[in-house]
Amino acid sequence: MKRDELYVGVDLGGTNVRAAVVDLGGHVLGQEKHRLLSREPPQVAEAVVRAAKTACGAAGMPFGEMKGMGVGVAGWIERGTGMVMNAPNLGWREVPFLKLVQARAPRLPMWIGNDLSVAAWGERAAGAGRGVDDLIVVLVGSGVGAGIILGGKLHEGVSGVAGEFGHILVHPGGRLCGCGQRGCLEAYAGGHNLAAWARDDLRIAMAAARAAGERHPAVGRKLLEIAGEPDKVTAAAMERAAHEGDELSRRLLEEAGNLLGVALSNLVTVLNPARLLLGGGVLTGSPRMMRAAMEQIDAHTSKAARKALKISAPELGEQAGVVGAALLARASLAQAA
Ligand SMILES: [Zn+2]
Repeated sequence: MKRDELYVGVDLGGTNVRAAVVDLGGHVLGQEKHRLLSREPPQVAEAVVRAAKTACGAAGMPFGEMKGMGVGVAGWIERGTGMVMNAPNLGWREVPFLKLVQARAPRLPMWIGNDLSVAAWGERAAGAGRGVDDLIVVLVGSGVGAGIILGGKLHEGVSGVAGEFGHILVHPGGRLCGCGQRGCLEAYAGGHNLAAWARDDLRIAMAAARAAGERHPAVGRKLLEIAGEPDKVTAAAMERAAHEGDELSRRLLEEAGNLLGVALSNLVTVLNPARLLLGGGVLTGSPRMMRAAMEQIDAHTSKAARKALKISAPELGEQAGVVGAALLARASLAQAA
């Protein structure tokens, strides 16, 4: 591989920044990960460039020889301007982040995009979506999102907000979502919201038990035992409790899986992808939720679309972000040239 074909990929989360030197085959030649000491945009821009330079050092390549840099950020990135319109993990609104990074490495061509787009591109280049032109990656973690590749091209939408799969409506007037709307898929299936849902139900059950003069709630007793107190309930505790027969946990995980599965079946029916990669910490940590989702996909997807579809798990894990960001930078710079 020639030196002039190397790119830096950066994955910027709410806690860590990760950077890697990546070749055109999607191989990571050197990488760096460090904690963000501040979420102030100029300091984060500084941290991004520092991580990129350290990754170059690890790869034994001068930073000045990189062809370009791609940055993936969890949030809404406005297309064309590189403006981070909203990044809840970082607490940012309308931050001209691309400009801040560019000011610190003015000679390096740069690209910035959404973390799910980047992950989908990484999986297509070097992971479970290798060679697939119509690919959707859906990750269910603390949030829920999708990266969409159609006809071999990343689909970001006109404003850059395509793939906001967590915010499609599944329950009009339902539970409040972090985005301010009610009834979003993420309000049920996203890890934080799922746990909050269980906490609410658990408190109701505890109040009912108290009113009836009982010491323990009739439902959710096992969950309460595992978590210790309602405030400590997590999606992982729910899965464990469900496994040990906890009715409340089982019901909520299955309901979240059902809502997710119906939403996925609609997505597949409309877009007719060849491959759907399903992952993310909450979903992979809950076989029960996964099973419910798969049943709904099989039951409700149009027959022709289901027949053409292969479902598997992402392969690259945490590397998808840096690999995808580097190769998306390359793709977008090649297009611009
Ligand atoms: Zn929402």
